[in-house]
Amino acid sequence: MKYDVIVIGGGPAGYVAAIKCSQLGLNTACVESSIDSNGTQKYGGTCLNIGCIPSKSLLDSSQKYYEAAKSFSNHGIEVKNLDLNISAMMERKNNVVERLTSGILGLFKTNGVHPISGTGKLINNNQVSVISGNDESIFDAEHVILATGSSPIEIPIAPWSENVVDSTGALNFEEVPENLGIIGAGVIGLELGSVWSRLGSEVTIFEAMTDFLPLIDKQLAKDSSREFKKQGLNIKLGSQVTNVTDSNKKVSVNFTNSSTEERMEFDKLIVAVGRKPNTNDIYDSNLDIETDANGRIVVNSFCETAEKNIFAIGDIVRGPMLAHKGSEEGIMVAERIAGKKATMNYDLVPNVIYTHPEIAWVGKTQQELEDEGVDFKVGSFPFAASGRALAADDSVGSVKLLADKGTDTILGVHVFGPSAADIVQQAVIAMEFGSSSEDLGLTIFSHPTVSEALHEAALAANNEAIHIGNRKK
Ligand code: NAD
Repeated sequence: MKYDVIVIGGGPAGYVAAIKCSQLGLNTACVESSIDSNGTQKYGGTCLNIGCIPSKSLLDSSQKYYEAAKSFSNHGIEVKNLDLNISAMMERKNNVVERLTSGILGLFKTNGVHPISGTGKLINNNQVSVISGNDESIFDAEHVILATGSSPIEIPIAPWSENVVDSTGALNFEEVPENLGIIGAGVIGLELGSVWSRLGSEVTIFEAMTDFLPLIDKQLAKDSSREFKKQGLNIKLGSQVTNVTDSNKKVSVNFTNSSTEERMEFDKLIVAVGRKPNTNDIYDSNLDIETDANGRIVVNSFCETAEKNIFAIGDIVRGPMLAHKGSEEGIMVAERIAGKKATMNYDLVPNVIYTHPEIAWVGKTQQELEDEGVDFKVGSFPFAASGRALAADDSVGSVKLLADKGTDTILGVHVFGPSAADIVQQAVIAMEFGSSSEDLGLTIFSHPTVSEALHEAALAANNEAIHIGNRKK
């Protein structure tokens, strides 16, 4: 059987690429090795099965519990005998995952994508071997898209064990750990730390770097750090973990802070120090495919490898490890295979950290603009001045908008606050159309919404904000 396209890997990059290829009239198959306990293929990759979706499910459940315990009374709602049923919470999460992953097989059927079960490997530039149990099958393909995703990094000082787990293990605790340690105050550390802290764990996060979230806007980093501390997260910056021992009952963590060596004990320890690309044995070493210093497959801006008709997308190539970035790469590659002139705007990939409040941003940070010597202006608006945020009792944080001083083009939007992800998404749309801050200022925003904070920040960039008291004269 010869396919126009074989996609190896069925995560958000691979399955989206496969569906798009099929929609464009290409005869397409998608190879996926994961299977569930019934032997049915599990599409959706990390994002749907053990990443974005289950973690957001627990983030939402835990936030409801936290609000019921801590802030319902602010609304005059008194909750008596509040109780937590962890197994019901986990079951709900598993059902959400099951519903979405099984939906992909349905989408394949509707769109005519052929699912192939097994472990795929590119053996030459138009053949893919698929191993399933003891059987090997060879499939011919005109084009191959590699989309095998990434896995949590295991560090030698903290190997996985009963109580030392990766992000997947941390989504499946059967009870709330009394004391929870986390190595890494990155995206995963903060999101999973939030989940278990809201459910009652004492959470300590060890972060080797001395700056908190060094890649985001400095003001947002400062504000969010203060808020997370208030929520009970003990974030130890400049703390390098040097040794971990799991006695099966307790995990003991040694760490150095400045020059002192300290030790703490936990019931569970999550290691969240980054992810590595899954590039091991996915293509024959004689092929003209190279990896960079981080083990990622080298591609050009169209996700083409040096090997003719072989593409790589998602977490195995440069750029942020984000589902939406991988999916868009999949669509671009599908369109290019079908002969269209698609490109991808890597400058406008939005980022979100799903804490509460969320942290979200797109475009350049103030630090980047300063480093690049760009002449820019800033407009900020605090949610404390937003009617809707106050009404919702959710008024921590602010919106910050950066625009070019000469052209007024919006260069970056950074939000820490309620619905930050959705507010930034509005900025992404505006920026995709080359909007100026004046354009956003002239746009009508519904009142009362938290989105009005973006409107006011755009107005503030030109010193025209209505609802800020300290307007420059
Ligand atoms: P990360 O790179 O975001 O953070 C890891 C942190 O661990 C870093 O700050 C690093 O300095 C620290 N660290 C490393 N070794 C350490 C040590 N020995 N002691 C103390 N600190 C140490 O990695 P992550 O949080 O594991 O996330 C992995 C990837 O998954 C990211 O690239 C992210 O983009 C992606 N992801 C995204 C989302 C989202 O978009 N919401 C959610 C989950 C994961």
